[in-house]
Amino acid sequence: MTISILKSHRFIHLKSLYYFLLLSFFVANAQAQQAVVMSPDGKLTVNLTVNNGTPTYSVSYKGKLFLEPSPIGLKTNVGDFSTGLELKEKQIQNKIDESYELPNIKQSKVHYVANETVFSFTKNKESVIDITFRVSNNDVAFRYKVYPQKGTLSAVVKEEVSGFLFPAGTTTFLSAQSKAMAGWSRTMPSYEIPYTIDAPLGENGKGEGYTFPCLFKVNNNGWVLISETGVDSQYCASRLIGRDKGLYTIGFPMEGENNGVGSSTPGIGLPGEIPWRTITIGETLEPIVTTTVPFDLVKPRYEASQKYQYTKGTWSWIIGMDKSMNYDEQLRYINFSADLGYETVLVDALWDTQVGRDKIADLAKYAASKGVGLYLWYNSNGYWNDAPQSPRGIMDKTIARRKEMAWMKSIGIKGIKVDFFGGDKQETMKLYEDILYDANDYGIMVIFHGTTLPRGWERMYPNYASSEAVLASENLSFGQGSCGLEAFSATLHTFIRNTVGSMDFGGSALNKFYNDKNTPNKGSKRMTSDVYALATAVLFQSGVQHFALAPNNLTDAPQWAIDFMKAVPTTWDEVRFIDGYPGKYAILARRHGNKWYVAGINAQKETVKIKVKLPMIAGGSELKQYADDAQLNGNLTTTKLKKNQEIEVTIPCNGAVLLMN
Ligand code: CA
Repeated sequence: MTISILKSHRFIHLKSLYYFLLLSFFVANAQAQQAVVMSPDGKLTVNLTVNNGTPTYSVSYKGKLFLEPSPIGLKTNVGDFSTGLELKEKQIQNKIDESYELPNIKQSKVHYVANETVFSFTKNKESVIDITFRVSNNDVAFRYKVYPQKGTLSAVVKEEVSGFLFPAGTTTFLSAQSKAMAGWSRTMPSYEIPYTIDAPLGENGKGEGYTFPCLFKVNNNGWVLISETGVDSQYCASRLIGRDKGLYTIGFPMEGENNGVGSSTPGIGLPGEIPWRTITIGETLEPIVTTTVPFDLVKPRYEASQKYQYTKGTWSWIIGMDKSMNYDEQLRYINFSADLGYETVLVDALWDTQVGRDKIADLAKYAASKGVGLYLWYNSNGYWNDAPQSPRGIMDKTIARRKEMAWMKSIGIKGIKVDFFGGDKQETMKLYEDILYDANDYGIMVIFHGTTLPRGWERMYPNYASSEAVLASENLSFGQGSCGLEAFSATLHTFIRNTVGSMDFGGSALNKFYNDKNTPNKGSKRMTSDVYALATAVLFQSGVQHFALAPNNLTDAPQWAIDFMKAVPTTWDEVRFIDGYPGKYAILARRHGNKWYVAGINAQKETVKIKVKLPMIAGGSELKQYADDAQLNGNLTTTKLKKNQEIEVTIPCNGAVLLMN
């Protein structure tokens, strides 16, 4: 990793800055202070204005307004830092130029370049907060630093006024925040409320705001994705609350989350910084598909105890459910993973009672002899909901957890999947961090399920594997309704949920029916094609994948499908947006080494028949093509990319296309 930060501390006289940049400010009155931060390419601009002591900021791209003057600042129990503020004339400007490598995100090598300005504010002549803006070519990020107040070294943040005011006509692509302690076994929020598409401004979901990330279409100007990153044990996770007239503000967890235990407002030591709020802007969806801002803004919190492997695996539970949790079936899946050349099997809930610890140790030993490692499922509870599945009461207790992890290490367990978390309070964020940090001591990777969005965790926590935080494959197994919406949902995840963090979807089923023998008309029926199953293995990014494949697929699925699933990578060097629209269709390209995988899916009734440009592949190249006919029968052929690097693709409803060079 190379880091070079060029620091230049200098006075900026706002008036001369204004003339220097030739920006057309309108200074409303003598009380206004103004400043600008521009992206390295000069196209993305943040304007900060302090008017009568109240700061606002706006964001423009190529001169078009994407966020109107929006509130900024916070209210704490040691002072209100949203009004009565004076911007210090002296600002610190940093040029950020950093390169880093991360194998488990969308892009393996990242070169992050941004302009940073630290705006310091006083109130009644005393230093109160800094607001730091970082502007890269398509991302704006800001965060607050709060200073000690008259000897007070601790604070509770009561409210962030940070807001995002969208121009009239903007439409929204949002997943509502569910109520707390609702649903099955009072396990909500589970961050799996279906999205509303192209909905108007001015709504507020189920009354509790929206789950990050939040996508907005600003008329015909382009797209905005709002999220946050760098959230750890030192703060709560946040969300967006819908307000009047196109304004959304940062919201904190509900009082009722975590069974009402723990504060919904976060506490910080002073001086203290709070997580970054991020705004990704593009004229097309390309900057949102490719953004690395969740990772650019964070640093590893600890060193990896070993080199962690990002692997593929299978799991019996997704097709066979609880009854599949027995020794013989787990043995069958270990053999199945070995046959596929996969490295892991995820042993889901109830293994402690239905298999037993000694037999798990036997299975782990047998698996190792076949080159396969095990992931073990755990209930995170605890006291925050009534999810009954065991093992329970271990991951929430430091002493029991570490003892358990020592046992896992002794039998060679590769990872854990921890389920049913209590919400977004600081208390719960601490539990996530504690589990990750302890697991690293024992060389164990961690998947979170029934969980909130990861917020930069791929870089912060080196043994972090993946998170659900999506209406995932289990719902396809639970009911036909989700199967009908499978492709529709996937075209959203591609442009929203999965753009800011690894998504443990657990999909790519090749069974026609969700039952353990693939018996017709038993369990829910898969509506998507076999090529679709392959395409989502490319579209859905997660360094660790457990696919919903079943041993019977070795004989009842097309050979080309099995061969593809054997070979498909889970780590990627690069991603490109090719075409698509959230809720309609999605075509992305991912590169692994020198091989490009172009994957497209379609959720619309009408067949997508379009010419796409593949500028990263040489014109005239021969391509492998997996495609569907109108009845969703897939086939594998070869085709040629035209000299002008164009190719026509045809994707029927619930079908897919895959092209590989
Ligand atoms: Ca779930």
